Amino acid sequence: MKTDDFRKHAGEVVEWMASYMERVEEFPVKSQTTPGEIFSKIPDKAPLKSEPFEQLMKDLDAIIMPGISHWQSPNFYAYFPANVSPPSILAEMIISTLGAQCMIWETSPAAAELEEKMMIWLRDMIGLPAQFEGVIQDSASNSTLAAILTAREKATAFDVNENGVQSSALRVYCSSQAHSSVEKAVKICGIGRKNLVKIPVKDDYSMDAAKLEEAIANDIKQGFLPICVVAALGTTGATAVDPIRAIGEICRKYEIHLHVDAAMLGAALLLPEFRWMIDGKEYIDSLVFNAHKWMFTNFDCSIYFVRDAASLIKTFEILPEYLKTRTRGQVNDYRDWGVPLGRRFRALKLWSVIRCYGVEGLQEKIREHINLSKRLADMIAAEPDFELLAPVVASVVCFRYKPAGYDEAALNRLNEKLNHALNDSGKLYLTHTTLNGNYTLRMVTAQTNVALNHIQEAWSLIMQTARSII
Ligand code: PLP
Repeated sequence: MKTDDFRKHAGEVVEWMASYMERVEEFPVKSQTTPGEIFSKIPDKAPLKSEPFEQLMKDLDAIIMPGISHWQSPNFYAYFPANVSPPSILAEMIISTLGAQCMIWETSPAAAELEEKMMIWLRDMIGLPAQFEGVIQDSASNSTLAAILTAREKATAFDVNENGVQSSALRVYCSSQAHSSVEKAVKICGIGRKNLVKIPVKDDYSMDAAKLEEAIANDIKQGFLPICVVAALGTTGATAVDPIRAIGEICRKYEIHLHVDAAMLGAALLLPEFRWMIDGKEYIDSLVFNAHKWMFTNFDCSIYFVRDAASLIKTFEILPEYLKTRTRGQVNDYRDWGVPLGRRFRALKLWSVIRCYGVEGLQEKIREHINLSKRLADMIAAEPDFELLAPVVASVVCFRYKPAGYDEAALNRLNEKLNHALNDSGKLYLTHTTLNGNYTLRMVTAQTNVALNHIQEAWSLIMQTARSII
């Protein structure tokens, strides 16, 4: 494609993008296709000859769009969001045009230095102490893996890096509500799933710190070596907040790395009124939060902070001849701060989002979302045949339909049926979890453009559908 053709098509694509943003509410929020439907519409063989770009755009609308679930619809209440925003999208366009591979400082000094500065901005924006240094990772999963690997190396004097895992005595702890990425990390890093100890939770689904200490003390007696506790700020099910100070004191006492998975609720730390979540921050060794969830920055952009960058780097660094540079030691070569060598220029989209919204603009949006959850919870609480199933901490509401005369098993079936009926309507998309054995509907009111009218319409639809399916 020649540059002039690119200019023409880029204009058309931008028009398509803007029109999509305007029309996003017209699409079924959850894709209504059946398995294999899209696959069967794509030719079996790659074209031998060049095809016009116009044809690709036609096929985009005809073949691909029906298979898209619309995460950017304000009627998207499922999972946790993967929010975008116009400033972030514009930056992504520039990032892909530059196509810089930012593995080391020399391969694009601006990328490394902007990343370093953005991490300072964000550290201060969320109220972490000045000792913390940050790096952008692709995902919270990889950040948690980096934390557990660092903990493993610190606890074994960097021996596992050299000699491999010699014993199965290393132990990691998280609550029974922690995200599955913790389990994945212990599988990958040679610690093993059986050495992940899941600590029971209290009524609000936060980790029971007394039970954590009991488990650690018991393990030590039996010859295990506790190396890491993963505490959550915002569990995936009910957005429970684990008590950082109480957990931190235990970690300090037993010399255990404290990693905080704040994938979703880290963004709420932008609000001073949510800083209670990091009371005890002096005990935190590492913390991850996803700007790609609730900070209006396109996936992927996961922010990983560490108190001791030297240990992180020592865990990951490796120096083949072809990566030796004259600036080594004077600059941040972020390839040493995580698993992948190659890195995208993600800092540019953070720069764009933070500057275009301003800290106050981001705070306002997050506050609005939290307020919407409160409003929704009030609407649910006002209906005697519905029940709230967890405290509303920030922007997630857990509830179920509970008409009289149904036992627990029947209620589970009924709520599952309700969930499918709602999603099949195409009018909204929500997902579920299980809390105390109860099938629980989860509504996340944190999509970039969600507003009160969306919540009101969603709630009417939920009530109407629920009462019509029994
Ligand atoms: N931690 C929590 C609490 C999550 O809810 C999620 C995903 O929703 C993750 C970690 C994993 O995030 P990522 O997709 O960035 O790996």
